[in-house]
Amino acid sequence: MKSFKEIYRTSENKIAGIAAAPGIIIGEAYLYTKEKLQISKADIDDIGKAKNDLTEAIAKSKKELNKIFAVAREKMDEVRAAIFEAQLMILDDPILLNEIISRVEQERKSPEYIVDDEISKYQSKMILSHEAYMKERALDIEDIKQRIIRNLQKRRWESKIEHNVIVISENLTPADTILLSRNKVLAFVTDHGGVTSHAAIISRSLNIPAVVGTHNSTTQIKDGDEIIVDGFYGYVIYKPSQEQKDFFIEKRKRLLDLQKELEELKDEKAVTKDGREIKLLANVDVSGEIEMVITSGASGIGLYRSEQILNELGEFPNEEEQTTIYSKLSSRIYPDQITIRVFDIGGDKFRFLDFEEPNPFLGLRGIRLLLENPAMFKTQVRAILKSSTNKNVKMMLPMVSTLREIRESKKIIETCKKELKSEKIKFDEDIEVGIMIEVPSAAVMARDFSKEVDFVSIGTNDLVQYLMAVDRGNDLVSELYQEFSPVVINTLKHIIDETKKSKKPVSLCGEMAADTLAMPLLIGLGLDSLSMSPSTIPYAKRIIRSCDYKKAKRLAAQSLKLQSEEEVKATIEDFFNKNKITRTRQII
Ligand code: PEP
Ligand code: MG
Repeated sequence: MKSFKEIYRTSENKIAGIAAAPGIIIGEAYLYTKEKLQISKADIDDIGKAKNDLTEAIAKSKKELNKIFAVAREKMDEVRAAIFEAQLMILDDPILLNEIISRVEQERKSPEYIVDDEISKYQSKMILSHEAYMKERALDIEDIKQRIIRNLQKRRWESKIEHNVIVISENLTPADTILLSRNKVLAFVTDHGGVTSHAAIISRSLNIPAVVGTHNSTTQIKDGDEIIVDGFYGYVIYKPSQEQKDFFIEKRKRLLDLQKELEELKDEKAVTKDGREIKLLANVDVSGEIEMVITSGASGIGLYRSEQILNELGEFPNEEEQTTIYSKLSSRIYPDQITIRVFDIGGDKFRFLDFEEPNPFLGLRGIRLLLENPAMFKTQVRAILKSSTNKNVKMMLPMVSTLREIRESKKIIETCKKELKSEKIKFDEDIEVGIMIEVPSAAVMARDFSKEVDFVSIGTNDLVQYLMAVDRGNDLVSELYQEFSPVVINTLKHIIDETKKSKKPVSLCGEMAADTLAMPLLIGLGLDSLSMSPSTIPYAKRIIRSCDYKKAKRLAAQSLKLQSEEEVKATIEDFFNKNKITRTRQII
């Protein structure tokens, strides 16, 4: 059977996009187009009627949005459902509404024209923003604008679909995604949008495969066409040949079998054949993933990327809001543990500064930015402490590069503890504080750094970037981003050994832990705790259960002596073959 690579290389009828939500679907395309509303700029004489129409249209829009908000809350977690709450707030914004009404009175133009013009002004500002997040939010506002105008014109939109179809659309607003999902949509394909678009985020939480950012699906695909959506690799194949269909039917069948088999492993431990237990923890990006963590069989959350809240909300939540978010997570995961990483802002993550740094990855990022902004840091530390009453919360510092940063951070944590004590607020006085080792300076000094804290977690995503001097998001140099480079694995070995010398636990939470090829090597290097995306946990467990720790140690020792990434990878592939262990990518 051909591989995915070969299938895609030889397929002319493919459209490439961004893999936004995993899964393979073969089905019928449904082109979801919204009739473009014609906006009249007519003069009006009856101001009273115009104002009345406006009030009615806004009331109707609110009613519709409230309904969508209710469905969203049922299907998703609160934080994500809050997109709709934010839309409702725009409808309640007195400044915007007064401006619209006063313009209708002064200009005597149809309310739909004024609504369009006024809201478009907001949007243009957002679209000009450098941030992907703001651009995406401009789309949410488009939804509100269209909704009010449609209601002013007393028209209806259909979001009902008769049977199971794959929805193809230029764009999907969060409301479209939610409403369409009620009609058993098989998958979503959009021309626009990235992984952070709400259509993508919602698809992931509803478990509906999606490929976004395809540029031209709506022009290439016709209504009713048979198509294949591959949410793993981010491709859409239209009008597939029999050979292509057979390939994907087979892959889908294997995927379903595998999921069933993995499901059975859920309550089993991740133990090697010779009895070494590996703790598998989950990385959580958005709080909605917590349910997936629970069903994945993870033994806790090894990394909660708290900065994702900022991406979702677009602003800093206050102490109380943060406490609610962290407390919900810690109680849901209880009695297991959650490691909350304090905001890792900067680099390619949430933009905080209003100017561009020449080298953001080498700039004010992670703990550096927090120490420069102690008020913000303290708010978060206090919220984390307040959510720790069940004693299952740990705190982790990102991007640490000097001992001074650790000591300064500990001082701030101590101050927060004192404050809470004097305010008679309960928290876990023995809360563990750890660091990410993801910068070469911290790797070199791992023994001294780890002595200062309670635990260490290796962040290979950044460690590889900084060791190899290669931007983790730049395609031009992706060949040099080598997780299996002997440089990287020797550094991992150094960090693990040095941290063990200071008798502190060490884990790894970069994407490398989710790479099934790396699994035996990481175990062999001596790690007994790994944190990865929840969906990879069952796959990892499967590999660990078919591995021998002794053999993995030998594999690691052998790999450490090699001189190139190719050699290391070939050696590990060989290990898999010799020991007859199958990896996921080979299966699906
Ligand atoms: C890492 O750098 O490996 C890591 C886990 O953190 P992030 O990907 O959030 O930078
Ligand atoms: Mg990192």
